[in-house]
Amino acid sequence: MNFSQLVLASHNAGKLKELQAMLGGSVQLRSIGEFSSVEPDETGLSFVENAILKARNAARISGLPALADDSGLAVDYLGGAPGIYSARYADGQGDAANNAKLLNALEGVPEDQRGAQFVCVLALVRHADDPLPILCEGLWHGRILTAASGEHGFGYDPLFWVPERNLSSAELPPADKNRISHRARAMAILRQRLQLDAVER
Ligand code: IMP
Repeated sequence: MNFSQLVLASHNAGKLKELQAMLGGSVQLRSIGEFSSVEPDETGLSFVENAILKARNAARISGLPALADDSGLAVDYLGGAPGIYSARYADGQGDAANNAKLLNALEGVPEDQRGAQFVCVLALVRHADDPLPILCEGLWHGRILTAASGEHGFGYDPLFWVPERNLSSAELPPADKNRISHRARAMAILRQRLQLDAVER
């Protein structure tokens, strides 16, 4: 499939920059902010449903093929929570409150039951009613620490222990995180699906 432009269903300039770098130069990502400031309600019950819903909305508003991502943290012991509610786990009080709530929910839970994964689902639709969205899922397995550690990143990074590096995700240099994260994994699959050359980063 050949796309020279995709509209990204996000108003976050940092996310656009990160995904553009992962996608490479042959496809230009444009922000949905160029077309509308209204964000759709994320009414789905899964990452997949919300990613598709956002991509369809962006395609409808812009008239362009659209890419959306939906991401979050799924903790095994909590049946996958906070999941699609990761950003607003502590009722919109922000990252520190989200992390405190997570630590509280796992109080006393032993190390071998603290498994978790960061999840990123990318959905690409050719047009708003596309019956066959391209879906790419990236999972990053780790474990939830008992205390925050590290200064980089955002969200749950200080609580997410990365076994292959023996560091928290917030202790990883950002460039390293961006090579191995859930978003990087999902984007690598998308590049393959679009048959784009691997991007040197
Ligand atoms: P969004 O898809 O960027 O809106 O992310 C949803 C929420 O999931 C964020 O607000 C974070 O709480 C969490 N999250 C997603 N990706 C990451 C990550 O790479 N590190 C830490 N938290 C993340």
